Amino acid sequence: MNRVQIFVLASLGSVIVAEAQGRPARAPDAARVRESVRAYRVTHQAEIARELVSLLEIRNVASDTTAIRRNADFLVGMLRRRQISAQVLEAPGNLPAVFGELKVPGARRTIVLYAHYDGQPVDTTRWATPPWRPTLRDKAIEDGGGVIDFPSGPRAEFGDEWRVYARSASDDKGPIVAMLAALDALRAARIAPTVNIKFFFEGGEEAGSPNLRKLLVRHKNLLAADAWIFSDGPVHQSRKMQVVFGVRGSYGVEMTVYGPSRALHSGHYGNWAPNPASLLASLLASMRDSDGKILIAGFHDDVKPITDADRRAIIGVPDNDAELRHALTLGSTEGGGARLSERIMLPALN
Ligand SMILES: [Zn+2]
Repeated sequence: MNRVQIFVLASLGSVIVAEAQGRPARAPDAARVRESVRAYRVTHQAEIARELVSLLEIRNVASDTTAIRRNADFLVGMLRRRQISAQVLEAPGNLPAVFGELKVPGARRTIVLYAHYDGQPVDTTRWATPPWRPTLRDKAIEDGGGVIDFPSGPRAEFGDEWRVYARSASDDKGPIVAMLAALDALRAARIAPTVNIKFFFEGGEEAGSPNLRKLLVRHKNLLAADAWIFSDGPVHQSRKMQVVFGVRGSYGVEMTVYGPSRALHSGHYGNWAPNPASLLASLLASMRDSDGKILIAGFHDDVKPITDADRRAIIGVPDNDAELRHALTLGSTEGGGARLSERIMLPALN
């Protein structure tokens, strides 16, 4: 949780050009902004965690529309408590989204901060503690983390390795609390934004965003902005904060392979009647080579090549591929030894 918060605090800090109250807008010293928000976080951790816990206690599987609605109303309350005008956005057949708007006098630019509040469906039998009863552990559960109490009080300390376990603790309710805590921290330091800020919290992302397009079209004036920042991604594997300028989309294909009209004994028919399992394996294998190169004709036609600027940026990304290979027990990687940070910029067929 801390890491997600720090990431969002930093990303807000980088887009918000601040001013001391009453003085003309002027970019504040970035180090001062960072120091102020960190100081705020250190003295308000228990309070921030409490707000996260309250949000995590609300069931949030997209198929449970009553619970989804409860989340939306709760989020509207969180925004309004901060004097941010807020409302629930609806479109037929779509789960509600929550919209908030903070207008800044004199601001010429507007950013939208996105996160989603619904979570993946849950198999409670596979959870060590109930998914909607947020539980704190002193390290990751796979590292033997034990349950501990949430600290309270103004200077309550949270260890760097502590983890909150609950459905959507990180994906993606954590960032919502982080954004709002970031705003609280800036306000406490009397650092005012010079961009208008809009919030868009989606309620059906894990369900594949059904009809999200309708919702965006219906409310396009409300959602107009210069840029969107999506807080729905991981920190870098090196644990450094990262800002990603684009992501790969995804596209699913359903294939049907036909075989004999009934199950056949391989001893009687093998090598004569085609086996749908091997047909499918051959078909899949024909689409990419063993080094990850996609062999489907035309697949790369509209792919923009990696530019020199991209390559310079890739060089600046921490290289922890060797540690990752070790942690994931990978004997080899695809792409002829190219780095992960380069490979994820290319289309994948997986
Ligand atoms: Zn997500």
